[in-house]
Amino acid sequence: PVRVRFAPSPTGPLHIGGVRTALFNYLFAKKNNGVFYLRIEDTDQNRFVPGAEQYIFEALEWLGIAPSETVDRNEKFGPYRQSERKTLYKQYADQLINSGWAYYAFDTADALDLHRKQHEEQGKTFIYNWHNREKLDTSLVISLEETNRRIAAGEDFVIRFKTPVNEVLELKDIIRGDIKFDTNLLDDKVLFKSDGMPTYHLANIVDDHLMETSHVIRGEEWLPSLPLHHLLYKAFGWEAPEFAHLPLILKPIGNGKLSKRDGDKMGFPVFPLEWKTEEGISSGYRETGYFPEAVINFLALLGWNDGTDQEIFSLEELVEKFDLNRVHKAGAKFDPEKNKWFNHQYLQKQSDEELAESFSSILNEKGISVENNKLIKVVSSIKERANFVSDFWELADYFFVAPTSYDEKASKNWKEETPALMKQVIEVLESIEDFTSLKIETILKDWMTTNEIGTGKVMQPLRLSLVGALKGPHLFDIIELIGKEETVKRILKAIE
Ligand code: GLU
Repeated sequence: PVRVRFAPSPTGPLHIGGVRTALFNYLFAKKNNGVFYLRIEDTDQNRFVPGAEQYIFEALEWLGIAPSETVDRNEKFGPYRQSERKTLYKQYADQLINSGWAYYAFDTADALDLHRKQHEEQGKTFIYNWHNREKLDTSLVISLEETNRRIAAGEDFVIRFKTPVNEVLELKDIIRGDIKFDTNLLDDKVLFKSDGMPTYHLANIVDDHLMETSHVIRGEEWLPSLPLHHLLYKAFGWEAPEFAHLPLILKPIGNGKLSKRDGDKMGFPVFPLEWKTEEGISSGYRETGYFPEAVINFLALLGWNDGTDQEIFSLEELVEKFDLNRVHKAGAKFDPEKNKWFNHQYLQKQSDEELAESFSSILNEKGISVENNKLIKVVSSIKERANFVSDFWELADYFFVAPTSYDEKASKNWKEETPALMKQVIEVLESIEDFTSLKIETILKDWMTTNEIGTGKVMQPLRLSLVGALKGPHLFDIIELIGKEETVKRILKAIE
């Protein structure tokens, strides 16, 4: 059975790349009637950030892709927080020591730095592995008694993986195909530290095994760990899951991985939810006014498509169409404009009633209350121009408050004869009983034709008087919605 996981480390807010990883795992699980679970990888206590774990859960919940097994939920293979599994890992480290797949090392940080430096001076990379340790004559060749004595004496130690020498590993990745790794180029990674904590590598493999993970779907940055992980499965005698490494998400402009700084610089969020620290606030999709469905749709296409030109997919459709074999190898460029475009599309899908309700809370904050029917009409007349509900105010403020200034450039349509003409318009408007868009339009246009007055001479100054600029939807819709009294008031103010 398919069991996949999202395994974030709670070291800060979940980045958009992490969300994409969670999403692809979710889609793959649902597509295959499998389980999507979430494990918190918090073994590195130095990097622990309060609030980050809660943030991850809240973000996935908001996006509609919550895991079905995790901390406090359906804990079939629990606990799902690695810090609570702490005691479990030591026995697995010991197992590798006993089978000769791992060893104790006592190198101090200083000694390692020195080796690194010496190598650099000779233009070489320092690879800390079994092979080199012998050559370097470090504290490696020590007897078991000596090892035990030093541990008992309280010396700091680590347990390192003993990478086999002179092997070429031929590994498979669902997205990347066959990949070869030369074991001589691998470091002997630390698996366990003297603070009693496993490192990511050990805990991750032990847990993926114990939690019966069938596929590991994760970001490309973990590809260099694949040979070690593969060897760990071999060392334990466990069957390895299948692996799929997702392409990087690239900056909108230039090269390299998308970073939080790109978002800050260009003014788009890279986090699902807002994140506050002492240094400031990073904006979130939710608070910026994105619909979760739009974010999901956009992220799904970062590295995947269904082979057609279709761009708009509901979550159900994504589940149905998703295929790991159609995920690209090449990095996916993050396009913030496209992101907004998706939100625009989803905004159009909302009903006018829903949009009116969201807009009314913005209006309430400004102390404006509007009759619901009117609001629905306003929203329907402007939504085509909006990407976010928060754009509504700028697009529609004149429906609720008279303009306080008039667009300079547009004022050139304001001629000497305009005030006199506008006075006549007022008279015509006053005479209209049934004050609806269509009626107003017919009557005003009839009047213009009869009196041989050019449309532009009336329409532009009229729009300027009501809106303050030459923007907005159909003028007669605006007049109906503003109402007779307010329309007249605004014209009078403009010609004063
Ligand atoms: N804890 C790792 C992370 O923060 C998980 C990597 C993996 O999926 O193996 O991304």
